[in-house]
Amino acid sequence: MNTLKKISDYIWKIPKKEKMKVDAYIFTDEEGLKLNSEALEQIKNVASLPGIVKAAYGMPDIHWGYGFPIGGVAAFDSENGIISPGGVGFDINCGVRLLTTTIKFDENKSRIRQLIEKIYNYVPVGVGSTSSKKYNKKDFKKIVEQGAVAVIEMGFGLQEDIEYIEDNGKIMPASFQDISPKAFERGREELGTLGSGNHFLEIQLVERIYNRKIAGLFDLFEGQLVIMIHTGSRGFGHQIATDYIQLMRTHLKKHNANLPDKQLINAPFKSELGQKYYSAMNCAANYAFANRQIITHYIRKAVREIFNIDIKVFYDITHNIAKLESHNINGVEKKVIVHRKGATRAFGPGRPEIPKKYVDAGQPVIIPGDMGTASYILVGTKKAEEYAFSSTAHGAGRTLGRRQAMRTLDLAKVLKNLEKKNIIIISKNKKTIIQEAPDAYKDIDKIASIVDELGISKRVARLIPLAVIKG
Ligand code: 5GP
Ligand code: MN
Ligand code: MN
Repeated sequence: MNTLKKISDYIWKIPKKEKMKVDAYIFTDEEGLKLNSEALEQIKNVASLPGIVKAAYGMPDIHWGYGFPIGGVAAFDSENGIISPGGVGFDINCGVRLLTTTIKFDENKSRIRQLIEKIYNYVPVGVGSTSSKKYNKKDFKKIVEQGAVAVIEMGFGLQEDIEYIEDNGKIMPASFQDISPKAFERGREELGTLGSGNHFLEIQLVERIYNRKIAGLFDLFEGQLVIMIHTGSRGFGHQIATDYIQLMRTHLKKHNANLPDKQLINAPFKSELGQKYYSAMNCAANYAFANRQIITHYIRKAVREIFNIDIKVFYDITHNIAKLESHNINGVEKKVIVHRKGATRAFGPGRPEIPKKYVDAGQPVIIPGDMGTASYILVGTKKAEEYAFSSTAHGAGRTLGRRQAMRTLDLAKVLKNLEKKNIIIISKNKKTIIQEAPDAYKDIDKIASIVDELGISKRVARLIPLAVIKG
């Protein structure tokens, strides 16, 4: 660890050396560094990739991932930089959507179980779960090219939902011709399903408000029921990542010859293969927006049937993506391809990308924690722009890998702890409960307080779990 320089309580620098083209920064405390030696090596490797600008960054929830660490942010020059599937992750546009209700927990405690069971009946959950509908080629093409917009036209949701999805639920360029027949086959069967593992549907209670003014703008109040969806592009995104890693291995051998880690495989952004991956990745991003939209439709139906009210989409954000954005790099506005892998965009007030209703506050940021502790709603800041290209954390981040969790944690204890807190859990798979146990994750309260104190996003509300569906 002697290469790490302390800049302030939560900022650590790995100065540029050897193959690194830029410095690297980690935003965490001393505890956080101890947990993450492998991820620190990975962030150094990322800093050596062609065309990287400014610096490579690690968020407080950083941990080991495929090639790039999860909780990592890196931007590459759009002219002479690269795009890398490992910098996006296999679950392209994995993300979180929060739905707000006008339901008060106090008056409806006894109906929580009924609600979670109804939602569980409507939304297909678990490994390899399939949708009730098998989409034909024409509809599927429309969905991957137009995202949430397309499925709303097909009857899944309200026109007004679109305003509250990052990029309005549709990213371009995205062309159906850049995806393989295998990706199509996997994708058409899994649309509108939750998946397994870390993915979840959770009924939560707004337990604490940190900023009343912004909470007001966000329609949040203490005692309110909200519903969180965490899922991504299912087997479709996974297949696209797999396909393009293989294509890059075959066709860009020379370009990738000197990588410090094979998993950092990439393509020059401007190359034909780079552009094709970009388009296919955007297809998966659109698919994931559509996926969360269809799930929203079923949750809305469940809430309507029990409470006779309509729910609203508060916001939908992605935390696994590469995006072409304009950023100030050492005084010059530049187009860069920002990879956020397990990191959330956190634009400050005034940005045109933010829904009009929220624009004076800043972009909503949603950070899930774990099924036994809490999750957070924060807001993006101007200050985040000075740091990691307007980015913040995306979760608590793991302390234990899945296998490690299986070895060290005990199912009965995990269930007992949830029961003590009156948290209802529905899960297809006992293994998932152990692998996703609160003890497998870092302390979310600490992560939220680090990003808040650093100023890269500010806390607005703390949410606690009432009922969880795990795949
Ligand atoms: P990832 O997409 O990186 O797997 O997960 C994002 C974050 O979701 C994790 O870092 C973790 O903090 C959080 N998370 C995982 N499972 C649950 C859950 O069941 N409930 C909540 N609220 N958060 C979870
Ligand atoms: Mn995911
Ligand atoms: Mn995720």
